[in-house]
Amino acid sequence: MTSPALTATVDLGAIAHNLDVLRTTSNAAVMAVVKADAYGHGAVPVARTALAAGAAELGVAHITEARALRAAGIDAPITAWLHTPAADFEGAVTDHIEIALSSSTQLDAVVAAARATGVAASVTVKVDTGLNRSGVAADEWDDFAVKIAKVHAEGAVTVRAVMCHLARGDEPDHPLNSEQAARLDAAAADLARLGAAPEIIHMANSPAALTRPDLARDMVRPGIALYGRTPVPERGDFGLIPAMTLSAQIALVKRVAAGEGVSYSQTWIAPHDTVVAVIPAGYADGVPRLLSGRLRVRIGDRLFGGVGRICMDQLVVDLGPDAAGVREGDEVELFGTGARGGLTAKDWADAIGTIDYEIVSQIGSRVVRRYV
Ligand code: PLP
Repeated sequence: MTSPALTATVDLGAIAHNLDVLRTTSNAAVMAVVKADAYGHGAVPVARTALAAGAAELGVAHITEARALRAAGIDAPITAWLHTPAADFEGAVTDHIEIALSSSTQLDAVVAAARATGVAASVTVKVDTGLNRSGVAADEWDDFAVKIAKVHAEGAVTVRAVMCHLARGDEPDHPLNSEQAARLDAAAADLARLGAAPEIIHMANSPAALTRPDLARDMVRPGIALYGRTPVPERGDFGLIPAMTLSAQIALVKRVAAGEGVSYSQTWIAPHDTVVAVIPAGYADGVPRLLSGRLRVRIGDRLFGGVGRICMDQLVVDLGPDAAGVREGDEVELFGTGARGGLTAKDWADAIGTIDYEIVSQIGSRVVRRYV
């Protein structure tokens, strides 16, 4: 029987549990954010699980991501919020994708797509309330609001929602959070005054959904917490369960003599005769090269340190002179829930000065996803 060299096991029960935590903590409907292939976990199975567990809607960045979910048979509301001028607005309209608009130019493109297809577009107004990334900019707001209210009245587009994205959601007490909320509420009120009242207001990402229920409005929009990772560790883990475990089978076990260097540039020299294991996981699979010399892996109940440079496809760990009973084909956990002393994606992120969002979403396409 063959089994994959490298596996990301995704615990769908953990996804369902985390969704429940988010729903109860925020006391609001949940738009499950499944962009970037559900942060590396697999968009279709995660979307199906989240919806079955009670998510009201799905959110992605690109129209292509939304359409792929539709093509997989998912008929829940899906919002896509990041578009270039060449984006497939006609496809979005015909697939009933909720298009979040950041500019008057995008509004024009969606109106044209609605007219060309004969299908009225449902849109969300994305307001730039302070992140200064996407969203309708403050200095364009008045003109934009008048214009979208007009096309809303004409029927080519229906304004269904307003949203913004928080710049400092992971600092729950930062005053900017409430300021952004006030700006979003004001934008919704402007639209209502102009006859295009949105039904739904949403802004809360994971940290806000977990710590600021007062910002939930009609719906929260979490990503990372759905995958079991707290974005505000100083406030606790909220009972979230990490959904992804990255594991590999040992490809080779071999002796290295004292004084021999291991891997490119031989940055690690064996201090004594030892035995190393070659693991078929490298930076092309999402193991950051910056973890070279800092990685530890779990085999059974023991941790072993990575030695030498992490390569594109492989890395090496030192098993010690007696090989610790480890054999070729044995399973190695690279990261997981932290059980049995193993590392988490957050441990990796902390070691190299990044965030666990980046670790899980970078797990490569060569890594086989297994759903349990
Ligand atoms: N909403 C938008 C617009 C986003 O871009 C993201 C992710 O970056 C999210 C929600 C989810 O954020 P988080 O993963 O912090 O919950």
